[in-house]
Amino acid sequence: MTHLTLQAVTKRFNAAYAVDSVDLSVPDGKLVCFLGPSGCGKTTLLRMIAGLETPSSGSINFAGRDITHLPANQRDFGMVFQSLALFPHMTVAQNVAYPLKLRKTAKDAQARRVAELLELIQLPHMANRPVTQLSGGQRQRVAIARAIASQPKLLLLDEPLSALDAKLREAMQVEIRLLQQRLGITTIMVTHDQREAMTMADEIVVMEKGRIAQVGKPLDIYRDPVSEFVADFIGLGNILPVSYDGAGGVSLPGGRRIAVAQPARMPESSSDIRLLIRPEDVCVKAASGDAGQNRLAGTVTFIRDVGASLEATIDCAGFTLTAATTPRETPGLTLGMPVFAELPPHACKLIAARAAH
Ligand code: ATP
Repeated sequence: MTHLTLQAVTKRFNAAYAVDSVDLSVPDGKLVCFLGPSGCGKTTLLRMIAGLETPSSGSINFAGRDITHLPANQRDFGMVFQSLALFPHMTVAQNVAYPLKLRKTAKDAQARRVAELLELIQLPHMANRPVTQLSGGQRQRVAIARAIASQPKLLLLDEPLSALDAKLREAMQVEIRLLQQRLGITTIMVTHDQREAMTMADEIVVMEKGRIAQVGKPLDIYRDPVSEFVADFIGLGNILPVSYDGAGGVSLPGGRRIAVAQPARMPESSSDIRLLIRPEDVCVKAASGDAGQNRLAGTVTFIRDVGASLEATIDCAGFTLTAATTPRETPGLTLGMPVFAELPPHACKLIAARAAH
């Protein structure tokens, strides 16, 4: 059963389409991320679900009811938006209690719920502290507690972690995800950070210019992107223009032929094809003997060694490849070193080239 469904939802600002014919079903109890570059329409789509923006056309259904034109305050959704800050003159407990007060919940029930929520976000000892005296991460937790105080059926988060530094942000991603799973609350989160989406989401909706480019589980999208745009946006990738010979082989820039796994779905146009191979699938070895099938001779031109992981750029005459490995797996790699880059056929994916602009 899906609770939230969008049908051909479109939003125009004057003549420009911010969101263009979006169809989507959000499964119950799942965390779905809207992911895409700046300006692709993520926030506008979320604001329409929240009721803060009205679609130009299309419909939004929630729990079997058409809510397209229902005012935001009648939707009972929890929201944490970047601009929706905590009330600075109130304490932690007063902030969390605010939505309950609005609903005229009885005082003792309010107190019980606030205590429960502060326990949930692990800040029970800070109930009476002004929110101005909290760290960024603590404030985010209070904002989330406030958003879920009245037990909304849908939680909407718009870049809730963007103001935090990298380390805190990663910790909060795990915290929010665990909390969401414990409560089983259907959640939609907007982010432009693919790593954040991969960490938190059950499903990712990749958006491109107001449209949905792909919907799927994070790893499915990572491993099987439908287009160059999605491949490029989700994770690091080596993307090379190639021509397919129709018999399990492609010609790389410069003319070398390598074998690839027969694609499950062939890009529509055989002339605009890209080969995608993820850096962790490129095996780097010291060059010795013949290169052989799917082994390309190259030279190391850059090394990023950060201790736990190692990234090497390899110039293969005609194109460069990035390989991701570890210092333990590939010891002794040095700049200028001749190497072989091995591209296993099963890891070579053929995808449609990005449409020309
Ligand atoms: P970001 O990650 O930068 O927040 P986004 O993917 O959330 O971007 P939106 O904020 O939804 O993108 O904007 C989509 C498009 O709609 C942009 O081109 C934006 O300029 C335009 N837009 C958004 N809100 C308005 C508005 N109120 N009036 C006119 N144009 C708008």
